[in-house]
Amino acid sequence: MIEFRYEKANDAASAIRMFACGDRAHYLGGGTNLVDLMRENIERPETVVDVTGLSQTIEAREGGGLLIGAAATNTAVAAHLGVRKGFPVLARAILAGASGQIRNMATVGGNILQRTRCYYFYDEAARCNKRDPGAGCDAIGGFNRIHAILGASPACIATHPSDMCVALAALDATVHLEGAKGARSIKLIDLHRLPGDRPDVETELAPGDLITAVELPPLSYAANSTYRKVHDRASYAFALVSVAAALDVDDRGNVRDVRLALGGVAHKPWRATVAEQEMRGAPASEETFRRAAEAELKDAVGLADNAFKIELAKRVIVNTLQKLTMVPGAGS
Ligand code: SF4
Repeated sequence: MIEFRYEKANDAASAIRMFACGDRAHYLGGGTNLVDLMRENIERPETVVDVTGLSQTIEAREGGGLLIGAAATNTAVAAHLGVRKGFPVLARAILAGASGQIRNMATVGGNILQRTRCYYFYDEAARCNKRDPGAGCDAIGGFNRIHAILGASPACIATHPSDMCVALAALDATVHLEGAKGARSIKLIDLHRLPGDRPDVETELAPGDLITAVELPPLSYAANSTYRKVHDRASYAFALVSVAAALDVDDRGNVRDVRLALGGVAHKPWRATVAEQEMRGAPASEETFRRAAEAELKDAVGLADNAFKIELAKRVIVNTLQKLTMVPGAGS
């Protein structure tokens, strides 16, 4: 039994104050990851600040964007009409992520900050640089089917587990924060870090920084977007490879604009900017999509058990974009 102090905050200012006053403090959203981490002795907070009382609202913004409170549940976001109609990639990513019971508990802020599901990270008997900096990484020479093919380092090959974040990366979402130094914002794609030689440092957040909201900027063609996920079993599982995409095709059949992000392949949601650039202005064809996928995966590195992900990612990219090309808005 590990004892900890539990505090409940009703606004950002009190949450930040409670965090600052607590020993080894940790914010608590729905608890769908943190409670597991505490049970497995990976996280040992002495103070837990419950932030589920913060904003849960989902507001339309001028021009067609949305502002989503960090305490909004995954269920509320996926069910919101403005999300389902205007940003279906986000609703589909959330629905692909977890069971209804977990979606009912999990919050937007907590989803963003969930930690890797690398088996060795959760096994105290294994060497893990993320859990114990400098210890080594048993995944590299071990069973690495679920691990990264892009942006990994000799210190860590873990992947980020969130489906929702892959959609947010494709939608160019901004994360709003408050902390000891006041309010600031950061692009979702800049929030998570690649592992480098400090895999234990996973985000650009300073200690005590609190996610207060996520903003989706307007995107004229976001209604023609979707999320595709490949995983190992029919019921919920973390992605081997996932693709979030939005596509805008002009009257001549050329790609006017495109957004593409990959999940299950890197330590952070992977925005596929190389592929996007390759596609803009080119015919919206299988050939273009394949060429773009090849370009994006050019530097991918496979290990003993996960090299299959490289070709899998290319095929899922092509297939997802083809579906969006056929009938606008029919990417299901
Ligand atoms: Fe730890 Fe990263 Fe290695 Fe997994 S891949 S064991 S999280 S260092």
